[in-house]
Amino acid sequence: MGNRSYEESDIVIYGMPMDYTVSFRPGSRFGPNRIREASIGLEEFSPYRNRHLEEVKYHDAGDMLLPFGNAAKSLDMIEEYVDKLLGDGKFPLGIGGEHLVSWPIFRSFSKKYDDLAIIHIDAHADLREEYEGEPLSHSTPIRKACGLIGPENVYSFGIRSGMREEFQYAKESGMYMAKFEVAKPLKEVLPSLAGRPVYVTIDIDVLDPAYAPGTGTAEAGGISSKELLEAIGLIADSAVNVVGCDLVEVSPPYDPTEQTSIAASKFIREMLLGWPGKK
Ligand code: MN
Ligand code: MN
Repeated sequence: MGNRSYEESDIVIYGMPMDYTVSFRPGSRFGPNRIREASIGLEEFSPYRNRHLEEVKYHDAGDMLLPFGNAAKSLDMIEEYVDKLLGDGKFPLGIGGEHLVSWPIFRSFSKKYDDLAIIHIDAHADLREEYEGEPLSHSTPIRKACGLIGPENVYSFGIRSGMREEFQYAKESGMYMAKFEVAKPLKEVLPSLAGRPVYVTIDIDVLDPAYAPGTGTAEAGGISSKELLEAIGLIADSAVNVVGCDLVEVSPPYDPTEQTSIAASKFIREMLLGWPGKK
């Protein structure tokens, strides 16, 4: 990955190898590097977008050096790093790591954009206030996002798992939540977000475990790789102004076939070719 220097790039890819607040199975710290390795086997031309990676200027900054075991400090470092990327006028494309890494990124983007909206694609609601008393958990980032930018600016898709209270919160708070499906509800919602700065966060476990077994909290009944590619294309073809994005929760140790990393590298190629600098 990465065809240019930092200075001459519009887009910066950065890995966040953090997996120490996961509730079930760790391993996503190895995600960014395995996705990089898998990307070597991927074509640089996209027939979906009719575009070649040579046509975008991107830099792979590698993985951040995070202090293992120290979630709070790691999150502060991520926020500081994304602040710098935004200050330098870059489009940040983050790779997790567990989903909690998106929380400091949301904070950074909310400082730059007053009318930010978040599109969240995931099997899980991630609307918990805490997990076993711990507010820094990968099951909480979307609840935190609702508190930060207002629930009415948060749009979740593909949700098929969570506590009763999380679904109740989604209903009562005024946030948008599409259960089970992604492409169809996305098509309906995107026109209402036209012209707005939107941050997109994708949790790989939105896919059915048949397509992406390599993730910590796999959930049966998910969407196909084809539907996720369609969703990425819908966002690219829409009038929303994507200002940054991430892909999280790829956990290579649970997938000896490496299909999850291979699929993730393709999603990232499509995000890279379709989303930045649309406006
Ligand atoms: Mn998640
Ligand atoms: Mn999830």
